[in-house]
Amino acid sequence: MKPTNLKENTRKLQASEDEVNGDHSRKISSSRFSSLLATKDRDYLLSQDGTQVKVSDLEGKVLGLYFSANWYVPCRSFTTQVLVGAYEHLKSKGSNFEIVFISSDEDLDAFNNYRADMPWLSIPFSDLETKRALNSKFEIEAIPFLVILQPEDNKYEAPIHDGVELLNRFGVQAFPFTKERLEELEMEEKEKRESQTLINLLTNHDRDYLLGHPAAKQVPVASLVGKTIGLYFSAQWCLPGAKFTPKLISIYQKIKQMVVHRGNEDDFEIVYVSSDRDQAAFDSYFNSMPWLALPFGDPAIKILAKHFDVKSIPCLVILGPDGKTVTKHGRNLINLYKENAYPFTEAQVDLLEKQIDEEAKSLPKSKYHAGHRHELGLVSEGTGGGPFICCDCDEQGSGWAYLCLECGYEVHTKCVRAVDRGSIVDS
Ligand SMILES: [Zn+2]
Ligand SMILES: [Zn+2]
Repeated sequence: MKPTNLKENTRKLQASEDEVNGDHSRKISSSRFSSLLATKDRDYLLSQDGTQVKVSDLEGKVLGLYFSANWYVPCRSFTTQVLVGAYEHLKSKGSNFEIVFISSDEDLDAFNNYRADMPWLSIPFSDLETKRALNSKFEIEAIPFLVILQPEDNKYEAPIHDGVELLNRFGVQAFPFTKERLEELEMEEKEKRESQTLINLLTNHDRDYLLGHPAAKQVPVASLVGKTIGLYFSAQWCLPGAKFTPKLISIYQKIKQMVVHRGNEDDFEIVYVSSDRDQAAFDSYFNSMPWLALPFGDPAIKILAKHFDVKSIPCLVILGPDGKTVTKHGRNLINLYKENAYPFTEAQVDLLEKQIDEEAKSLPKSKYHAGHRHELGLVSEGTGGGPFICCDCDEQGSGWAYLCLECGYEVHTKCVRAVDRGSIVDS
């Protein structure tokens, strides 16, 4: 194909794409990144400290285009809680990975503040045209959004549009984000799920029991088969755990009562999976818990943490009566729905969400809350909400919430303590 009679720019772009399709040389693929990221006046990107880095330096790299903005809480959480860690890990392993930030910040100050947290490159804030072109080329409709491009353009390897989901799901394992790698991960996950049973999760060849009360009582793991089981990853030294454990104890007791009341057999149990530093700490913490535990320092503890990819504690993983994972977000569900979360299945959560949507219809659109000086607006998944950490109770939330957009201050609807605004002087 010989492009003629076309405008200079279009001709160049077309020519490089045609050549790339036939010839996968390094030189040409770098011009592919240039055509996306450079302009005729600018052949560089900004590094974290503001130095200029040539776009041609991206040659041969797997490239993440990160569409994000500081004013949106889910963007900030993804940046600081997922992307920075993944990026630094891959860099420290010498992986050929780079990220370029495409900002939707409202002004230069906001951009610079946000960029200060980002160890990767950025398109200068002033280059609206390139940012706009990238947003439209990759059809960005929601942020945070991470597009992954392979170093060589390849018609079998379409750009990945769900980099955010892939990193949330697989972490750095997803690298280099090729079709082959992702198929491998899917397969591993499927095999892991199929082979997962309560017995192979909780026993090993030296031990087929868990600890119960009074101390040293042994409860056979086999007696738990067929029940809904919560694996509670926690430790006495863990501060959020100190807050969550008493709540979980009270809800555990309510679930037990509820189950008995319904005339069902006792079909719920929790197993403490301890990360305590020594036996004494384990003993004293486990003594405060009404459920079962894996012995302190048991080899199964590390295996379970890896198997369920537990990144922070406290964490409550729920297993169904068949021993398969129901959810890793048991803690979140307990916080949101208390004992009503039981048995933690998707069907139960859907039911609760419907009830909550119904109830939210009667909530005021905005409210003043004793813990914040600005007025808070009611948000949900579709209107700027999404997963958050409640600024009042420090627990996770999602769905309906009250949010101060300016400050990023967000609380559960149940955590709002109404105040009479007229009686407070603005500071
Ligand atoms: Zn809260
Ligand atoms: Zn505010």
